[in-house]
Amino acid sequence: MAKRHLNWPWWRKWRISATVASVYDAPDRLRRKQAVLVGTLTHPKWLIFNCPCRRHHRVMINLNPAQRPAWNVVKTSPLTLTPSVDETLVGSRCHYIVHNGRIHWTSSS
Ligand SMILES: [Zn+2]
Repeated sequence: MAKRHLNWPWWRKWRISATVASVYDAPDRLRRKQAVLVGTLTHPKWLIFNCPCRRHHRVMINLNPAQRPAWNVVKTSPLTLTPSVDETLVGSRCHYIVHNGRIHWTSSS
């Protein structure tokens, strides 16, 4: 029996919840604090998640070291990512560090 996750516990930490082969396999809906890794853990391509800001826009960051800029998944669960995520949108900027499953907003956001 499927349980609804409307009350996904806020204390849950960010983590990689699934690995998919291609960006087209990434689910349309992502649960809060859950990221999807595209590729494999040894050959990661992308990390996809919904931004922790209020707009929850989708963020797709490159994990392939052959392409720059590239990010590095230090830990999958809870999630640690380097360097910081810096997304610039029209009228706003989302700049934060994902460390040990928590979001640390930088002062420039
Ligand atoms: Zn955002």
